[in-house]
Amino acid sequence: MLELFARLNVKTPNYEPSQGDGNPIITQEDLCGVLASFPEQYSWYIYAAIDQRRSYNMELLHRYFKQRVMQEMRNKKYVPKICTTSVFADGVTKAAVWAFFYSKGQCPKCVGDGGWHVRVWNENTHKYYDEFELCPQCDGTGRKEYNWAERVNYGFYQIYLDSIQHIEKDDSKPSMPFTRKWYTACCKNYDNFIREELTDMSRHLVAKIKHLKQQEMKYRSEVMGLEICL
Ligand SMILES: [Zn+2]
Repeated sequence: MLELFARLNVKTPNYEPSQGDGNPIITQEDLCGVLASFPEQYSWYIYAAIDQRRSYNMELLHRYFKQRVMQEMRNKKYVPKICTTSVFADGVTKAAVWAFFYSKGQCPKCVGDGGWHVRVWNENTHKYYDEFELCPQCDGTGRKEYNWAERVNYGFYQIYLDSIQHIEKDDSKPSMPFTRKWYTACCKNYDNFIREELTDMSRHLVAKIKHLKQQEMKYRSEVMGLEICL
């Protein structure tokens, strides 16, 4: 999508408010510029988030994050005991990306809203204003999260099944080594790492678009102010 945007948007490959006629109203070109100024993985994120070719874009994110996790493991000199580094990174990434994009449901406390409006008194302006308070249970995401047992099963159960495929007798098959306890002890940090990176991507996109929107509002109020003076 970003490549497409950048092509559509030859005049503003990097974000600059449109000022052809001194008029910084948000245009499609600006939005294209915002999106084109981010690295590639942001386009995969947007596509996966809005459910456009979701599995394909999640696969691209998976490959990207698997490499990032392996890099983190190298940095921390962490070597898993019960599987290879690649299998470990693959399973954690699979679980974390899936848990992020396939919500288990709504947060029961805020029923999916991520928070609620509260009326706050402003001492300076002597007016009430509405403030959005984030729900502490879901940290503003509005989602009910998968637990560790669900994550480890999603990420590693197939790997376990594949590993025992060749063993014919049921009684000689080893039990699943990838347990919830193992996941929380060994994988949790990497799972959190991926979740935080994905959350950051969302925050960056929202912040840039919000910034653009504020510029537009400011311009509109200035123009309106001018009209009143005239
Ligand atoms: Zn909540």
